[in-house]
Amino acid sequence: MNFVDSHCHMDSYTERSGVDLESWWNSVDPKPDALIHVACEEPSFDYAKRMIQKFPNVYATFGIHPLCADSYNDQIEQELLKLWALPKTVGIGELGFEYHYECASHETQRKVFERQLEIGLPFRKTFVLHLRDADEDSLDVLKNANLQGATLHVHSCTTSTRFVDEVLKLPCRVYIGFTGILTFKNAGDVRKAASHVPLERLLLETDSPYLAPVPHRGKVSHAGMIPDIGKVLAEVQGVPFEDLMDAVRKNTRDCYGV
Ligand SMILES: [Zn+2]
Repeated sequence: MNFVDSHCHMDSYTERSGVDLESWWNSVDPKPDALIHVACEEPSFDYAKRMIQKFPNVYATFGIHPLCADSYNDQIEQELLKLWALPKTVGIGELGFEYHYECASHETQRKVFERQLEIGLPFRKTFVLHLRDADEDSLDVLKNANLQGATLHVHSCTTSTRFVDEVLKLPCRVYIGFTGILTFKNAGDVRKAASHVPLERLLLETDSPYLAPVPHRGKVSHAGMIPDIGKVLAEVQGVPFEDLMDAVRKNTRDCYGV
């Protein structure tokens, strides 16, 4: 079985588990083909740069998360422009809105989101979107942005069927990622939204170290748990598990080139 974790935070994984990336990679079973490590605050950019140099199967995305929107400034922007140009940078983000936790003002989050969409577009790399409890503002930004030729990964989808349907109508390529939340007992709405996404638009992600899927609840999540999320996604989609995993593997290649 071939699979990729399309969204994980390996520095945070190491912090929580005490296991570094190399030891983890050597012992994990089942083993992924590759990882897409997401670096979404300035202090973590250096780690990501080192990991993509060290490991052939580790790729990265860089951006400023809405939780850190207040940190955005010219110097960070100049750094992002350099990082986005690296060959093993496959995405820009995560970017978007976080309205669940108190953080930067909605206005600041919006500015930082729009700015990165605008200056990131010419790089032709996938935008990784974190859109939490902000359906209306998210649709407003995305409908008004220039997304010509863009690819979007709506990360850790937990939203309504209506939002998913709307976002899939945007005039660009849109993929929807599901995490361990899909396997939680009380996540009927998320499974319903997942059933609305066409098979060729689905991605699997752990958001490691967070959101460990059933039957690993309470543990530190990592890419080896992707098949556990895939099993539930296959049920929701009504397709055999192997077919689901093959389809998602292909989608990850189409979305990220990985
Ligand atoms: Zn994340």
